Amino acid sequence: MNYTINKIPMLKKNLILLAICSCSFAMNAQENATSTKSQGIDYSAYKADKVKMNKKIDSIISVMTLEEKLGQLNLPASGDITTGQSKSSDVAKKIKEGKIGGLFNIKSVEKIKEVQKIAVEESRLKIPLLFGMDVIHGYETTFPIPLGLSTSWDMPLIQETARIAAQEASADGINWTFSPMVDISRDPRWGRVSEGNGEDPYLGGEIAKAMVRGYQGDDLGKNNTILSTVKHFALYGASEAGRDYNTVDMSRIRMYNDYFPPYKSAVDAGVGSVMASFNEVDGIPATGNKWLLTDVLRSQWGFSGFLVTDYTGINEMIDHGMGDLQTVSALAMNAGVDMDMVGEGFVSTLKKSLEEDKVSIQKIDASVRRILEAKYELGLFEDPYKYIDENRAKSEIFTSENRSFARKVAAQSMVLLKNENNLLPIKKSGTIAVVGPLANTSENMAGTWSVATPQEKSITVLQGIKEVVGDSGSVVYAKGSNLSYDKGFEERGTMFGKEIPRDGRSDEELLNEAVAIASKADVIIAAIGEAAEMSGESSSRTDISIPQAQKDLLKALLKTGKPVVLVLFNGRPLVLTEENKTVPAILDVWFAGTEAGYAIADVLFGDVNPSAKITATFPRSVGQIPIYYSHKNTGRPLGNSEGNFEKFRSNYIDERNEPLYPFGYGLSYTSFSYDNLKLSTDKLSENSSLKISVEVKNTGNYDGKEIVQLYIRDLVGSVTRPVKQLKGFQKIFLKKGESKTVTFNLTVEDLKFYNSSLDHVYELGDFEVFVGTNSNETLKTKFELVK
Ligand code: BGC
Repeated sequence: MNYTINKIPMLKKNLILLAICSCSFAMNAQENATSTKSQGIDYSAYKADKVKMNKKIDSIISVMTLEEKLGQLNLPASGDITTGQSKSSDVAKKIKEGKIGGLFNIKSVEKIKEVQKIAVEESRLKIPLLFGMDVIHGYETTFPIPLGLSTSWDMPLIQETARIAAQEASADGINWTFSPMVDISRDPRWGRVSEGNGEDPYLGGEIAKAMVRGYQGDDLGKNNTILSTVKHFALYGASEAGRDYNTVDMSRIRMYNDYFPPYKSAVDAGVGSVMASFNEVDGIPATGNKWLLTDVLRSQWGFSGFLVTDYTGINEMIDHGMGDLQTVSALAMNAGVDMDMVGEGFVSTLKKSLEEDKVSIQKIDASVRRILEAKYELGLFEDPYKYIDENRAKSEIFTSENRSFARKVAAQSMVLLKNENNLLPIKKSGTIAVVGPLANTSENMAGTWSVATPQEKSITVLQGIKEVVGDSGSVVYAKGSNLSYDKGFEERGTMFGKEIPRDGRSDEELLNEAVAIASKADVIIAAIGEAAEMSGESSSRTDISIPQAQKDLLKALLKTGKPVVLVLFNGRPLVLTEENKTVPAILDVWFAGTEAGYAIADVLFGDVNPSAKITATFPRSVGQIPIYYSHKNTGRPLGNSEGNFEKFRSNYIDERNEPLYPFGYGLSYTSFSYDNLKLSTDKLSENSSLKISVEVKNTGNYDGKEIVQLYIRDLVGSVTRPVKQLKGFQKIFLKKGESKTVTFNLTVEDLKFYNSSLDHVYELGDFEVFVGTNSNETLKTKFELVK
């Protein structure tokens, strides 16, 4: 396959380079203590005095020229700005002329200060700039990739990661993040599955709220909270064939029930901005889709913040076949877009469209107002340098306190997929062989979208294990194989500063070296899977198994007869059917962030008992995709509970229907039993509530956390309903031998769904209730919803 990055726009390339070089900026960071405690947050988000704000904004708009108005709607990438030279840059000239409303992906408080100074001292109206960045799972201190973080099912923890990200980013001059990404995806071929929270609308909605609250806090005007952006609106995770940027085609009933909820939750939590997605929705690109951006987002959901496009989203409508730049820019404006990211379609064409009556000045003014409101609410009019404080930059970023919190979070995101004969946890003594192409690469620990992190400072598996073992055992290492036999594939999966240098030795030499050290060890830790850039944007795969070179390495290691623990790196669910048969223990560590290696060691040696549970189904075969637990029953479901093939039923002749690991699955070093599932009544009436209780006991030998999951099934409806839907969960801690009664409350609100008229309703009738350890292993009972 030929592959080129030449199609990436020039500015995007600059950004990527900036990400690669970001390491140097961290050098001065001091490891000062900063509080990581949650601060009694109330979630109303905006505290600005609206009357004062409107007065201020009216007075600005009344004196703005059309060029200055369009300037506020323009968001170029920072591109050519380097410290000390910002004044002579092309961007600086535009800022002086009032042609820019914000910039993104400039890193360092010094540069941001220089640029803000130009805006507030040298432009006519002195309007401060927004400074945005893809602060996705942490800033310099990096937490697990979002898919990994979601497997913690721990909302306070997730919120705290966003709060720390905001704290660090704002200390470095950033006041706006392009996060959270909440696209539901049920197709792990899509590389951006890694950036979201998996397949479930309810869990996705809870996480969306936690992230927005973490970033924005209770008052956007504080200097340690930043504006959040929910993206990509909408349905981006449903691109056909899992190919990035591809067509999406979906019924509205599915949009409302399954794909919209997390975006709506973010809006309900007061998110300040929304980013339109690249894909089409109902035949019209999201960026130009008035139904989506105005009717749904503003009229139905009441969103009052501003709407930004994705990177060149307007210009891309030309290739979608929607017309020339002037046409698509007017289309976007009329659809409800406020800010144009990178493409400069608004600044270059809206004047003409206004003269030709294709857009109205009222629309332009409304967009300008929304941008100015965001600036006002951030407190930038009061103090444009609010987020620019060299002392904070030195003392609040990449602190030892933040890093030790990141270590805890990372361990909470690791999913134990298999643990035959309790091979894990292992002892810190004896000889431990650490093998595999992912074992010793700090650049690959933080995962995709970690533009601000000093990649070289992330803790590798080898380093983490060595430090945690200390003098009590000996740790030996061999790479064992390259990432892949296919050099081209390997290059495409290790771009942009995340290289794993290809070993010059032959495949055989690499393998022999690994087998030689592994044969003499007491236990083998095989750190293999995907490299960081094998998932993320523009990293779709058709084959989502472990690359063959690493499969062969694993086989050779298993052949030594020594116990093998697979420490799996992945940005998506992988097909692990073979490994699930042959490898005794599998720990899924995703890309766990800056402290990955320590956290992996914490779990392997049992200092932390794993408790995470997957939020996206792992298929047995790529041919089962899309695969998700909340599927419909069909008119021809299988008639046997063993899952055996039946002719003229909905199944395959070459594979079973069930996944390898179901949604909500994950093991612990201890075990839990579930008993006594009880309902407070078997007839729930419309204005009362149903209490569901279950007894959970820790029946194993370790203290541990369990994520107790509640699902329902609406048995008869005016439209077909999923076989199971998550409606609640609780993460509990039980000492060994301890039991607890876990209680959930259900009301009709929880039973609502969108019917074929898209009304949000509940319907009387029979429901099943399931409570259990994952979506497949549950206790079951029933109730009836009555008038
Ligand atoms: C991505 C967005 C991101 C933007 C800015 C785009 O390519 O789709 O998720 O926020 O770039 O970097």
